[in-house]
Amino acid sequence: MVNKRTPIIAGNWKMNKTPKEARELAQALVPLVAGVKDREVVLAPPFTALSAVAEAINKTNIALAAQNLHWEDKGAFTGEISAEMLLDSGCRYVIIGHSERRQYFGETDETVNKRTRKALSKGLRAIICVGETLAEREASKVNEIIGRQLAGGLAGVTAADMQSVVIAYEPVWAIGTGKTATPEQANDVHHFIREQIKALYGPETAGALRIQYGGSVTPENVSTLMAMSDIDGALVGGASLKPESFAALVKFT
Ligand code: PEP
Repeated sequence: MVNKRTPIIAGNWKMNKTPKEARELAQALVPLVAGVKDREVVLAPPFTALSAVAEAINKTNIALAAQNLHWEDKGAFTGEISAEMLLDSGCRYVIIGHSERRQYFGETDETVNKRTRKALSKGLRAIICVGETLAEREASKVNEIIGRQLAGGLAGVTAADMQSVVIAYEPVWAIGTGKTATPEQANDVHHFIREQIKALYGPETAGALRIQYGGSVTPENVSTLMAMSDIDGALVGGASLKPESFAALVKFT
């Protein structure tokens, strides 16, 4: 069967770039990826730079993402940000449950689920991150962990809403470490994720779901990863911080 899923390459800038730096990076990127039509390009700057990047990518083929959101609409939630604020800043996507949030900020499958349902109910597309630690991989618990993260994170999400969901498989041991999962290792987990989605939602939803790989993706390794049957995109940290390397990633062949 021909894979008709549109590849999606997203840059997660994490806690990097002031609004000025972010604007410059986005402006430099725009002409480099302007001709790209057959894949989706997404940038996720920090909250303070969303508006600057939104301006820089206005009317281009690049979409804006935030790195998190809160599940309440407004109120006494110091340090949090709402879906409406993100939409107003020009976001189409939001990253949810990144392993750094799970590791350092107490994110759980339950809070991932609350954020996901809020994002989807407001019309934001969700990039939901899942992934195992090295200890979990070594204990042969990859499927157990990923299965739990998927079931927990997607609880109550309908098949219709799944059209606005992208899953990012990011093995924790590969993020920012220079260690990439082999294309086969990554594809095995992607295949497992698709099977889980099939069990939860049926073959049509599973077949349409885009699953990104993340973890030390570079212009050098992106093509072999993207050649795998169940890898539909990349969520990129370090290599997204320079216009040339991110553009090269986007233009993988
Ligand atoms: C990430 O931030 O999601 C990520 C995969 O980072 P890096 O590409 O730097 O490993």
